Amino acid sequence: MIELLQTSTPVLLVVTGLFSLLVGSFLNVVIHRLPLMMERQWRLDATEFLSAEGHALPAVEGSGSYNLWTPRSACPECGHRITALENIPILSYLFLRGRCSECGTRIPLRYPLVEAATALLSVAVVWHFGFTWQAGAALLFTWALLALSVIDIRTMLLPDSITLPMLWLGLVLNLAGVFTDTTSSLLGAVTGYASLWILYHGFRLLTGKEGMGFGDFKLFAMIGAWLGWQFLPLVILLASLVGAVVGIALILFQGRDRAQPIPFGPYLAAAGFIALLWGDHIMSLYLG
Ligand SMILES: [Zn+2]
Repeated sequence: MIELLQTSTPVLLVVTGLFSLLVGSFLNVVIHRLPLMMERQWRLDATEFLSAEGHALPAVEGSGSYNLWTPRSACPECGHRITALENIPILSYLFLRGRCSECGTRIPLRYPLVEAATALLSVAVVWHFGFTWQAGAALLFTWALLALSVIDIRTMLLPDSITLPMLWLGLVLNLAGVFTDTTSSLLGAVTGYASLWILYHGFRLLTGKEGMGFGDFKLFAMIGAWLGWQFLPLVILLASLVGAVVGIALILFQGRDRAQPIPFGPYLAAAGFIALLWGDHIMSLYLG
């Protein structure tokens, strides 16, 4: 099997596509549950703090454990447990025509879209890197970027529980020089965080507004740790370009309020992905 994956690109891509559909299905769980888990934790912390101060507060509802694995997935409307047959990436959505089999509540289009996007991006990664350690690492990076983007779009949050472990992982992988050398990786993490931190405080001093969140700094640091500091200018340039185009389009076509905050994380993530695959190419074109 391993030999077949090494020698046959079509087989490798098909296996990657099928496997990453399952990963996409898991990313949907992460995207749905991680913000809820964070909110639960904030409530617990707040309750604990306030009751230590002597305020009596109602206990946090739903005392059962809630994490990525328990309880089993269910329809939020009627509580119908999702069966294995209803849990097949993309196909189940089509088969159910986008509705809960029990109560007919619409299943968000996000679910099949995330699965399809995971498969497409993963195939692109493996096509680019081949059957290598780099490809394996790049897949993890890509999946994290995708999950972070969708969570940020939905909730304006970039969970530390994804950005920070991925930042460390980037540093560790580059100890072995998977994508860049150790120094570039370390400098990437530091300058990634520091540059946006400075930008944030500068912007706030000038305008009195907050242009982005601390999650953005950590995401940029993570991208720096993975790709090296050399790619950060390109990433910020691409992110701003894509952000400007999408932002203007949203204002023009959806009448979106200009003052309404737009999450920056998805643009950073998209730019990080582009830099992962084509950064070398773009930079060599640009530099000469
Ligand atoms: Zn239902």
